[in-house]
This record gives sequence, structure tokens and C-alpha cells, in this order.
Amino acid sequence: MLYLSLFGPPGAGKGTQAKKIAGKYRLYHLSTGDILRAEIANGSTLGHLAAGIINRGELLSDDVVMALVEHAIETSVDVDGFLLDGFPRTVAQARMLDAYLTACGKQGLDALLSIEVDREELTRRMLKRAAVEGRVDDTEEVIRNRFAEYEMKTRQVADYYREQGKCLPVDGNNNVETVFQDLVAMIDEVKRQESLLEK
Ligand code: AMP
Repeated sequence: MLYLSLFGPPGAGKGTQAKKIAGKYRLYHLSTGDILRAEIANGSTLGHLAAGIINRGELLSDDVVMALVEHAIETSVDVDGFLLDGFPRTVAQARMLDAYLTACGKQGLDALLSIEVDREELTRRMLKRAAVEGRVDDTEEVIRNRFAEYEMKTRQVADYYREQGKCLPVDGNNNVETVFQDLVAMIDEVKRQESLLEK
């Protein structure tokens, strides 16, 4: 089983790349943002709680999100692994995930695929997405808040995995297809290393 996380600031193109990668490698695309938006659409108690937080561009509590991730991992069948999208978003979540995977007999996450994009390009993409998708959390003020949350709480996740030699950077300023090919090359290498270790 492969456990990968697609990492990057809001607007880096995680969702787009995640769908393509999940399809190619038969991975379960586990987007915590998508799960939360589905809870909101269902009108569940969690959905009500999440709506306020998401609409302000803030983060949900680590425990709540970790519980959603565990549930999704434990109930999915017929996959060769998991592609986490938007998780872990804090160092606390990264530690919880590693503890969980270790308890499952894995050596933590296999790799954090970090999509790196310049700030001006990110803002341009976010505003374009706001016009196309109409996401309630893509207004200018909320976008500013989401970047602030990223700088304050999320960026450090890359450092956490870099120290373990598991953070693999890719230039996300390129077009979708080029970024995808770069990610494919990295994932193939991760898989090759894993198969060497298993032998
Ligand atoms: P996303 O679709 O990944 O951009 O997530 C949309 C929103 O959902 C975020 O701005 C957060 O409010 C919330 N969210 C998604 N994933 C997480 C997470 N791992 N931890 C905390 N909040 C999250």
C-alpha cells in the first residue's frame, strides 16, 4: 500500500493533479476538503460546524480531521494506496498520521509531494477559480485568510517531512501536464525504492 500526500498552498493545483494521479496508480483520492464539503451538502452536524470554519478560511481541529481520514482509509476497498489531498495541514496532523500508519505496520507516510508555486501565480489562479467554480471560500478576504493559515500552520509540514528525507518538491508554475509528468517520475521512483526494500 502506498501512502502519499499532495502538498502545497491554496491554488497550487492539488485537486487537479490528485485526480490524475489517483486514476493512474489506482489510489484512493482522499481530499479532506471534499469530505467536509460533502458533510456540508448533507447538512450533518459536522457539516454545520465545518461551514462556518471553511467560510472564514480557517482550519478545522486536528482531531476532527484525523478521525475523517482514519474512517476513509478504513472503509475503502480495492485500492493500491491513498493519495491524501489537503492533509496533513499542520505538524500535529502529520504526527497523528505517522502514529496511525506506524500502528498499522507502515513506516509513516511514503512521501510528501510538494507543489511549489510563486505567490503572484497563486493569487491569479485562486481568483480565476473563484469565477469558474464559485466556491464560497474563494472570495478575496477568505483567500487572504487561507494564505495566512498556510504560512502560519501548514508550511511547516514540508519541513517536518524534509527532515525525514520524504519531502519531494515539484515546480508547480509549469502547466498541468508538465507538473503531472514530474509527479509521475517522482512516484515511480518512490515505488521503485519501496519494491527494493521489500526484496
Ligand atoms: P481544501 O479543499 O483542501 O482547500 O479545503 C477547504 C477547507 O476545508 C480549508 O480551508 C479548511 O477550512 C478545511 N480543511 C480541509 N482540510 C483540512 C485539514 N487537513 N485540516 C483542517 N482543515 C481542513
